[in-house]
Amino acid sequence: MTELLFRDDAYRTDCTATVTEVNERGGIVLDQTVFYYTSGGQPGDRGVLTRADGTEIRIGTTIKADGTVIHVPEDGQPAPEVGESVTAAIDWEFRHKLMRMHTAMHLVCSIVPCGVTGGQVGIDKSRLDFDIGEHTLDKAAITDALNALVAQDHPVRAEWISDAELDSNPDLVRTMSVQPPRGSGRIRLLKIGETVDLQPCGGTHVRSTAEIGPVQISKIENKGKRNRRVNITFAA
Ligand SMILES: [Zn+2]
Repeated sequence: MTELLFRDDAYRTDCTATVTEVNERGGIVLDQTVFYYTSGGQPGDRGVLTRADGTEIRIGTTIKADGTVIHVPEDGQPAPEVGESVTAAIDWEFRHKLMRMHTAMHLVCSIVPCGVTGGQVGIDKSRLDFDIGEHTLDKAAITDALNALVAQDHPVRAEWISDAELDSNPDLVRTMSVQPPRGSGRIRLLKIGETVDLQPCGGTHVRSTAEIGPVQISKIENKGKRNRRVNITFAA
C-alpha cells in the first residue's frame, strides 16, 4: 500500500520514495507519494520523479487501478528499477489551480440547494451537475454568493469520521450537501467554516476560501428538464 501524503498535507510538493513496482505497461508504484490520483472528479497529478543520478522520469498523470496508486510516465521515459530511490515532485502550479477550483466547487454546493449528480474539476473550467427539481438557478446571484464566501475567508479543514459515528449522528448526515458512502469503515469529511459546507471528500483543497481568488459562474447549461450544469471559471 502506498502512503498517501497528500491526504494530510495538500501543500506538500515533493517527497523521497522507493519504487516498489513497475508494471508491464510501465506504470510506477511508490511506497509513498505526494501525487493525487484521479478520483472524485479531480484529475491526477503530473510531475517528475528524479533519480539518484539526476535523470528525470516525467509523469503525465496518476491513477488508481485495482487498489494500487500508479504514476503513469509520459511516452519515452526511462524505467526505474524496483528498490530504487527517487524524489517525487508534483507540478504545483497545476495542482494549486485544481485545489482552488475544487474548493470553489464545495462553495457552489453550499449555495445551490439541490442534489449533485456529477462534477469535474479542471484548471480552466470546472463543472457541477445538479438535479434542480423545482428550483431555478441564477448565474449572477450564484456568482455574487460565491465571491462573498471567498472574501469571507472561511477556514477549510478535513477530518475523519467512522461509519459508527456517522450512524449515531443523523443530524450531521442531514447537514451534508453530498451523502457519505458507507462500508469503508471511516470517511474523510471536508468542512468549510463552521456551517458553510460539510461533505465527504478525499480531494485536495486550499486552507481557506480567500486563496481561491475571484471566480465566476461562466455558464449554466440546460441538461434536461431537471438537470443543470453549472460551469465555474476563475474571474481574474
Ligand atoms: Zn473536496
